[in-house]
Amino acid sequence: MVVVIDGPAGSGKSTIAKMLAERLSIKYLDSGAMYRALTWKAAKKGVDFHDDEGLCKLLSATCIRIENTKNGFETYVDDVNVTREIRLPFVTKNVHYVSNIEFVREKMVEHQRRFAEGENIIAEGRDMASVVFPDADKKIYLDADITVRGERRHSELGNLNGPSQLLTVVEDLKQRDHKDMTRGLAPLKQVDDAFYLDTTRLTIEEVVAILIEEIGQISK
Ligand code: C5P
Repeated sequence: MVVVIDGPAGSGKSTIAKMLAERLSIKYLDSGAMYRALTWKAAKKGVDFHDDEGLCKLLSATCIRIENTKNGFETYVDDVNVTREIRLPFVTKNVHYVSNIEFVREKMVEHQRRFAEGENIIAEGRDMASVVFPDADKKIYLDADITVRGERRHSELGNLNGPSQLLTVVEDLKQRDHKDMTRGLAPLKQVDDAFYLDTTRLTIEEVVAILIEEIGQISK
């Protein structure tokens, strides 16, 4: 069984997908972590984010490893555990350069499909339904009001990175969504056969309950 969740930043994809994976005892794939991993390495190595060729070469020389462990979903770059560091603002700010390169997307998609091969899995990202797993058993699109998404992200960042301004967080989310939705390659979009859920006024538990019910329909 393959379940996919797409949606804009802060719509609750990661939190919900992780909980569903746990409840259903299936594997979890955070596809964004892979784009973040390459962005992290490029920043560490000082590769210019406008240098597509340099970024492709860097990817070819990099081992990105993703794993479901007892500590959750973990990401490694050349055996360094970068699970926390890839959430830092310098990565979030620059990830769009990396995710809009054809070669990079091709390699990431190959890796994501390999990771899912023969598994029961829930995968989340931007192009899970439209590109990576078009035959998924269940396609979900999560959305939420921009202010609520901003508040959610703001409280997450508070833990990770000290104080941040809500208005700045909302503005950053808007810009990132705009880039993800308007880019030439695999833009974020809702596919026709997706189950759309607006999580603005729902608690996490309510979203999980609705989706468990929806996923349960697969076998009926
Ligand atoms: O989901 P997350 O916010 O970690 O994703 C970070 C970035 O990675 C997104 O803003 C997007 O540019 C890129 N991404 C993508 N395709 C995916 C997942 C993430 O292009 N499937």
